[in-house]
Order: sequence, then C-alpha cells, then structure tokens
Amino acid sequence: MTTRTIIILLGPPGSGKGSQAALIKSHMRLPHLSTGDLLRENVAAQSALGKIAKSYIDHGKLVPDAIILDMIMHRIEQEDCKKGFLLDGFPRTLVQAQALQLALSASDQLFIINLKVDDAMIIERISGRLICSKCMTPYHLRFAPPKAANVCDACGGELYQRADDTYEVIAKRLAVYHQQTAPLIEFYQNYPGFSTIDGTRSKEAIFNELVNALHIKS
Ligand code: AMP
Repeated sequence: MTTRTIIILLGPPGSGKGSQAALIKSHMRLPHLSTGDLLRENVAAQSALGKIAKSYIDHGKLVPDAIILDMIMHRIEQEDCKKGFLLDGFPRTLVQAQALQLALSASDQLFIINLKVDDAMIIERISGRLICSKCMTPYHLRFAPPKAANVCDACGGELYQRADDTYEVIAKRLAVYHQQTAPLIEFYQNYPGFSTIDGTRSKEAIFNELVNALHIKS
C-alpha cells in the first residue's frame, strides 16, 4: 500500500494556514485542499452547495459537517491525492476529525501542524487581508503587500477582501474557533506527528520550523 503523507494545518482563521499551505504545496508537491477555497468556488459558481454554504460563511458560522464531509471525502479519493495531500481548514470539528480518522490507513503518515496566534493579532491580520480572485494567494496590506496595488504578484489576478473578513464576522469566527476547533488540539496532541508552531513570526521562519517538524518526525 502506498504511504500517503497527510498534513493537517490547524489554527485559528488568519493564523497563516493559507500562506504556509502555498509554500508546502510548491516544496512538497502535495495537493492543497482548502475547504474554505472549495466552498468559495461553489459560492461563486452558485451551485446548490454554494447556495447553502453562503449564509453560514457570511455569518462566520461553520458549514454543517455532513456537507463538508461529502465535499472533502470525494476530493481526497481523487488520483492526485494518492501520494498524500495537505488539508487547510479541515478538520474543524471533532465529528470531522473522527470521520477523517476512518478514512486513514495504517500506512499513512500523518502530520498535524498547529499554528498558534493570539486573538488580537488575528484581528489585526485579517482586517488587512486581501486574496487573489484567481489563484487564492493571500496578501496583507501592511505585512505582505503585493508589488502593485490590488494585483496578484503570482498570476496578475485581481485582489479582493473576503466578505467574511470584516470585524464583526472575524469576532464570530474566532468564537467558533475556540468553541469547536480548538478542542482538536487535545484530540491530536499525542500523535507523533503533532507540532505546535509559533505563528506570529515571519512566513519564512514559520516555514523553516514547519519543514523541520516534517523531517524530524518522518
Ligand atoms: P476559511 O477560508 O478556512 O477561513 O473558511 C471560510 C469559511 O468557510 C468558514 O468560516 C466556514 O464558514 C466555512 N468552512 C471552511 N472550512 C470548513 C469546515 N471544515 N467545516 C465547516 N465550515 C467550514
């Protein structure tokens, strides 16, 4: 049986999961599966799933587990995930984590990277965040500005602010994180592949530590 490398990026919204995922994707050639991106693609396409998901996303609430599981479990069975994949924004509840466990096999190598950033910094980060409308690369007006205003350095796409990146929705998303997602730290912390990384430093410093965490344990 092929050994799959499965990396889970855990952490509150705005902890840098998307930025680290982009780096991991290019260095390790693993497909980047972001449930947030998959949902936003469905919202933009006005699919049946997208129509249901939109009201949850806009209010900072989690989309129901059954919808998420249906979406992601099909995705990880695709050909490009045969050697492994990188999960960003999933699992976010204990039900999702337990469902993922059932989809793993004994030969899988599981790494869980918990990015730690406090709430005050999250609010500062998210309120200046911009995303590329084409390739989803994240930027920040102060901390990681694009070279040209509103244009993606990577693909030339137009940058936009997510509708759920307003102060009110961020506060709600943080509350939801503490209530429903933070318990996953306890769920995973005894796994040999679990590491907590200080997510307040530069993107490069975090990535170096992350690569070490993946190598030491592999
Ligand atoms: P993200 O881009 O990961 O911050 O996700 C944006 C929004 O999509 C979240 O606030 C949720 O409404 C929804 N979402 C993304 N991933 C999940 C998930 N695993 N479970 C439930 N809702 C999710």
